[in-house]
Amino acid sequence: MLKFDHVSKVYKGGKKAVNDLNLEFNKGEFIVFIGPSGCGKTTTMKMINRLIEPSEGTIYINNEDIMKKDPVKLRREIGYVIQQIGLFPHMTIQENISLVLKLLKWPEEKRKARAKELLSLVDMTPDYLDRYPHELSGGQQQRIGVLRALAADQPLILMDEPFGALDPITRDSLQDEFKKLQKKLGKTIVFVTHDMDEALKLADKIVILRGGQLVQCGTPDEILREPANEFVEEFIGKERLVQAKPNITTVEQIMNPRPITIMSGQSLTEAITLMKQHRVDSLLVVDENHVLEGYIDVETIDQNRKKARLVGDVILPDTFAVEKNALVRDTIRQILKKGMKYVPVTDENN
Ligand code: ADP
Ligand code: MG
Repeated sequence: MLKFDHVSKVYKGGKKAVNDLNLEFNKGEFIVFIGPSGCGKTTTMKMINRLIEPSEGTIYINNEDIMKKDPVKLRREIGYVIQQIGLFPHMTIQENISLVLKLLKWPEEKRKARAKELLSLVDMTPDYLDRYPHELSGGQQQRIGVLRALAADQPLILMDEPFGALDPITRDSLQDEFKKLQKKLGKTIVFVTHDMDEALKLADKIVILRGGQLVQCGTPDEILREPANEFVEEFIGKERLVQAKPNITTVEQIMNPRPITIMSGQSLTEAITLMKQHRVDSLLVVDENHVLEGYIDVETIDQNRKKARLVGDVILPDTFAVEKNALVRDTIRQILKKGMKYVPVTDENN
């Protein structure tokens, strides 16, 4: 759907904003570009949208070089939300939403109907259509901003830090809403942020840039498991993983593992066979909602060696060490850092 082939951008004055980007994405993917300020995110978005031309290389949408596309056709393929969007204060919500539709020469009736339809997507009633932006809350305004990008129903939507200026709670709920909407509408999204929490939450693929250079591209899972280098580790924010998310309690939130199940009727030997099959070196104890209850890793077990039994090359303590909260999270962090494989085992009857 979207491909970068040796794409670079050098601005006048010699500033290399993007350096030899090679990437490929599928239809329907939620792609998040992330990196510190000045790393080339907005430049990349502008190149996709053909607001600026690459100095070198080619960007393809559906295997077509975008520079060779008809401009009207390109508008029909790409929706764009620029950085620091603001709604136009002197325009009604209806006018704001259907701005692009007007440019695309949709008739008035159709524009109105579309605006109404879009509002219903974010559970807002049609009486908002005639209001002005200042009559809406910040979160509602941001929703309208998003709707504006979705208005013309283009298959590819570019969004440059659209939730940047929101308070954390509004932001959180908008992120959830937007992710659901994207799944439902099947759009391909290229989304820019400098906030790793946001990236981890929204993305199917995360692209990490630094100084115009690609540092790593992967699923959130891959990036958490195997950060390419210290810059990425730093950027993920090991502290943030633990502290800013006191509610990291579900296994899925951490790394989306495939659980193996140990039934309570199974013997320890059977359990260990299963663990070996899956090359498990840690046991993560979760409840029926996959909420983390505790863990056992080899080191912990080693410290409790006296109470533990040795079976094969896996040592298990007599009872699971069920330790919650900070300690558990800290251990997960360490395990992630070591790149150890971490597969949870559920004991359905316990
Ligand atoms: P980001 O969106 O990641 O913060 P940008 O893509 O806006 O980064 O900018 C990347 C680099 O290119 C920065 O060093 C910026 O100063 C420079 N830059 C951006 N736009 C221009 C321009 N029009 N002319 C010259 N340099 C620019
Ligand atoms: Mg930017």
